[in-house]
Amino acid sequence: MISIETAASSAYIVAALLFILALAGLSKHETSKAGNTFGVTGMAVALVATIALAIDRDIEPLGLALLIGATAVGAAIGLWRARVVKMTGMPELIALLHSFVGLAAVLVGWNGYLHVEWHPNGVEADLLHGAGLLGIHSAEVAIGVFIGAVTFTGSIVANLKLSARMKSTPLMLPGKNILNVGALVLFFALTVWFVADPALWLLVAITALALLLGWHLVASIGGGDMPVVVSMLNSYSGWAAAASGFLLGNDLLIVTGALVGSSGAYLSYIMCKAMNRSFISVIAGGFGIEAAPASDKDYGEHREITAESVAELLGSADSVIITPGYGMAVAQAQHGVAELTRKLRERGVNVRFGIHPVAGRLPGHMNVLLAEAKVPYDIVLEMDEINDDFDNTSVVLVIGANDTVNPAAAEDPGSPIAGMPVLTVWEADNVIVFKRSMASGYAGVQNPLFYRQNSAMLFGDAKDRVENILQAL
Ligand code: NDP
Repeated sequence: MISIETAASSAYIVAALLFILALAGLSKHETSKAGNTFGVTGMAVALVATIALAIDRDIEPLGLALLIGATAVGAAIGLWRARVVKMTGMPELIALLHSFVGLAAVLVGWNGYLHVEWHPNGVEADLLHGAGLLGIHSAEVAIGVFIGAVTFTGSIVANLKLSARMKSTPLMLPGKNILNVGALVLFFALTVWFVADPALWLLVAITALALLLGWHLVASIGGGDMPVVVSMLNSYSGWAAAASGFLLGNDLLIVTGALVGSSGAYLSYIMCKAMNRSFISVIAGGFGIEAAPASDKDYGEHREITAESVAELLGSADSVIITPGYGMAVAQAQHGVAELTRKLRERGVNVRFGIHPVAGRLPGHMNVLLAEAKVPYDIVLEMDEINDDFDNTSVVLVIGANDTVNPAAAEDPGSPIAGMPVLTVWEADNVIVFKRSMASGYAGVQNPLFYRQNSAMLFGDAKDRVENILQAL
């Protein structure tokens, strides 16, 4: 008969492998559903193994009831939220979930402290002391609490910014870079002190410092850099979980945390490259970015167009590129857009999609919507694949995109989004912009595209306007 301990260790290895398969699956549209199933299965295996292990270790009845109760309540809330969340609300939900991982790491760290260092004559402290490992335990507590607390408040600010309950403009405290670097230096000093003398007030100070730093790091990042922040907090939450794994002696948590931490860090790196941003600058809370003056330039008059005229234009076009953005998600216009694509293709028009890496509010947002509406994958192209084709395109339909098609990024060095690669839609013969007003996009930057000679605004909800065009066609 194998012991529960051995069975649980084997189950942990199986779960870790399932998590690796989940990551591999999630990297392609075609295999993403399977990837998700691997992840859910891995998590179920891990939960069952953990509960079995707790029972085997003679957990008190109250503890067991709390463990099972918390798992059931958590699973029910998770299922309910996942069912009701709208696609446009996903990024803020993800940010909120990261904050839970951060909070859990803080609680695990504090629990470790109260059980060991706080009880200098307790059994666990004695054991660790005897093995000469007490200092390592204290360092694990300090590091785990620090990463967890930074993730916790950072993710809360990200949630508030993404849900528009806090302004997306960067907070510009005087000497903000010195504040960030100073906080890191202070953390190292406090940790060394804490390892030498694990006093309660030191852990309180480390926790407070990390909570403030997390808040400040994300508050100082502007709207344009938020995509990187979301994936960076994902990475932090992984490292926070790994730190908890060390404290709890749980190998699966260490492996899972490291997987999330490193894949999140790599995703942040890819997104920084795509947006021409310095990785170090963004992870250090916009280090070195100075406040750009809000530009209220007068770009002249914009031109309006009706859905009927757009239908006419499309009727005589031979090539069309559609560049969707966040507004398409808000309007849920993807099904109408797919129908329009089908109709135009039937008439022999070459229709393709140009997807900016940070269009919408989460990586792959537009790809998911278009796949849901059954737009064929082979006409959905990445920005780099399509950017050279705009100058021989008859019509570009900018459906609810704004920052990702802003020429200021390429042409105005003073713009807050200067240097960010954008879809060069203005090179086409005609550009039709679908939006409801002249308001700016997520980064809060004016868009000179709307005033170009070859641009026309089609005002209104994107879904309604696409319907109108379909009728007119
Ligand atoms: P933007 O957020 O820049 O602009 C969206 C536009 O859609 C707005 O100008 C809005 O104008 C319009 N809109 C909103 N609702 C509707 C509607 N119902 N019908 C028609 N139009 C509508 O979009 P982009 O996709 O171009 O850019 C994404 C931005 O989000 C970038 O700044 C990116 O950095 C940021 N971001 C991206 C993340 C990611 O991972 N992808 C994560 C976090 C932030 P109006 O109100 O006038 O209708």
